[in-house]
Amino acid sequence: MAGYLGKILWVDLTSKDFKEEAPSEDIYQNYLGGYGLGVYYIYKNLKPKTDPLGPDNILGFCPGLFTGTLAPLTGRCMVCAKSPLTLTWGDSNIGGFLGVSIKRAGWDAIFFTGASTEPVYLLAGDENPELIDASDLWGLDAVETEKKLKERHGKNAQAAIIGPAGENQSLISGIVSSGGRIAARSGLGAVMGSKNLKAICLNGKGKVDHVDKATTLVLVKEYNKRLNRNMDNLGAKMATKIGPSFATFMRLTKGNMSQSHAIATRVFRLFGTSFATNVQIAIGDTPVKNFAGVGYRDFPDKIAKEFNTQNLKRWITGSQGCFNCPIQCGHVMKVPELNIERTHRPEYETLASFGPLVMNKDVEKVVEINDYLNRAGMDTISAGVTVAFAIECCEKGILVKKDFACKEFPDGFLPGWGEPEYLMPLLRMMVNKEGIGEYLAKGVQEASRHIGKGSSELAMAANGQEIPMHDPRKIKGLMVTYLTDPTPGRHTAAGLEYSSIGEINNFIDKIKFKLGKDPLVAGAEHARWAKVMQVINSIGLCEYATWFEKYPLLEFFKSITGWGYTVDDIYKIGWRIQVLRQMFNAREEKIKFDIPNRALGNPPLKKGPLANVRVKPARFIKEYFKHMGFDDKGVPKQETLEQLGLDFCIKDLENASGSPIPEFE
Ligand code: SF4
Repeated sequence: MAGYLGKILWVDLTSKDFKEEAPSEDIYQNYLGGYGLGVYYIYKNLKPKTDPLGPDNILGFCPGLFTGTLAPLTGRCMVCAKSPLTLTWGDSNIGGFLGVSIKRAGWDAIFFTGASTEPVYLLAGDENPELIDASDLWGLDAVETEKKLKERHGKNAQAAIIGPAGENQSLISGIVSSGGRIAARSGLGAVMGSKNLKAICLNGKGKVDHVDKATTLVLVKEYNKRLNRNMDNLGAKMATKIGPSFATFMRLTKGNMSQSHAIATRVFRLFGTSFATNVQIAIGDTPVKNFAGVGYRDFPDKIAKEFNTQNLKRWITGSQGCFNCPIQCGHVMKVPELNIERTHRPEYETLASFGPLVMNKDVEKVVEINDYLNRAGMDTISAGVTVAFAIECCEKGILVKKDFACKEFPDGFLPGWGEPEYLMPLLRMMVNKEGIGEYLAKGVQEASRHIGKGSSELAMAANGQEIPMHDPRKIKGLMVTYLTDPTPGRHTAAGLEYSSIGEINNFIDKIKFKLGKDPLVAGAEHARWAKVMQVINSIGLCEYATWFEKYPLLEFFKSITGWGYTVDDIYKIGWRIQVLRQMFNAREEKIKFDIPNRALGNPPLKKGPLANVRVKPARFIKEYFKHMGFDDKGVPKQETLEQLGLDFCIKDLENASGSPIPEFE
């Protein structure tokens, strides 16, 4: 047994019982770790149509199969449950040190069932796991809670924590770790809050074995050598020096974010995700003014440049990142202007969602919001999209000043585009579920249902989850990802067009793709990439790794676990995991294609890089379904289930349902 530990932990929060389970080797071989293992156990143990905020939902913390090993960039961990936001399969990916700490505590995954009547936290490590009263931690933000847990259980203890947003069961709340990293998406903080589980705290010192450590070390050394060569690449040096000054040129030439391995390595090591936010705004990748604006007109380059990492350097005190990652793409900052001693640099998604999306031109305000939401445990993407929705509702007279009455503003206030002073009060209302904040804390789709008056067309969500900061009118393949991945509205889910921003055909030996716009080819290739992506996620490999360097995936499988997998094995394992995630949604009768017309370019924008762009993904989706072995409504076929050894799902087909693919005209 190597790579994995052969043990998972079940914690019943109602009865306070612990149960250890030893999965057989074939479960690991067929589902790996991460959300592969998560979906296997949750699918089998969760009754269909379970209330996601009731005690019967199952919450899993699942590090990748390779997490804790020497394989670089494999420190990612997945939190899984039925999502209260989308009512579909929910998972959320988190970096930092959470995954490796679960492994060091002796577990390949920890699943929670039931609900405690009083706040508790789980302590697991060298001693037997125990549930500890967390009444004194309830109400504290995630960073304060982490500090207290470290004081009690040692400075090396790691934790996954909910802040006030999760305690209040906001449907856009997440789970925080490592001082401000967050499993933000799918609303899983609310699931943890509904169970009265404030935190899990891990202080184990165990190790993960390798079948052949010497070979693994050689592979790691070669990989790191390639990364270092990228850092010295002259073209990459030039690109990282002058790239952001090409925003106008890129816009005029309809450029995209394509980059070589060398450039991506250098960009992420030195600047992280927000190296060229201004270019993304200019070319139409970044949505502006709730997806109705035009970058160069509404958010000109002079201001947009302030949202690049380079402009945040005055506050940056060092790099930080995930366990065993040679890139370390994040930064920590000290911001005296805001009295903040230590905080994380906002990532691109946050800079975009609280910058151009809401037309806020004050980058310091984004830093303040990022710190606040990471502490409160609220997803910055969903929160930004929801704030943009509320502002547009005000602009159109759907919401009025008195709708925003709160303790801070008893007569209300009227948030408008580019008015940063109202952002924090509005977010505080959402986190604390005060006044209209109670509805906005449920995300845009639920909020628009409550508000009515035609506001659903302003609610930028895909199947219930707020659309991330990559406009599907620019990267059209992402529309398919947003609508068809079992966790909808996610840019980090399998999307070939998005992943091929990097040198996708130079990532894994013998795995190559035909890239192009023809929906017949694109659908098939997207399906093949979706299979590979499930493996990437289930071993805990960071998705950015696809952009950096050739990765010795099969070689690591052999040297870490001893499994001699072929490329066909990779496709089959990934296919199995994706089909099971899809089957989860079919069983819930939640396969749908719910997206506002604006995201489809209907009607199209009149100006800018997305002028006259319409997105019509019907044929693409049809081909994707065909190549995944789904019927034309997205339900996995019986023969697909049989072929993948998912026979335990066949009985569920009787009550499963999908939806016809709309024409999107
Ligand atoms: S590249 Fe960044 S996000 Fe990915 S593993 Fe490394 S530090 Fe984490």
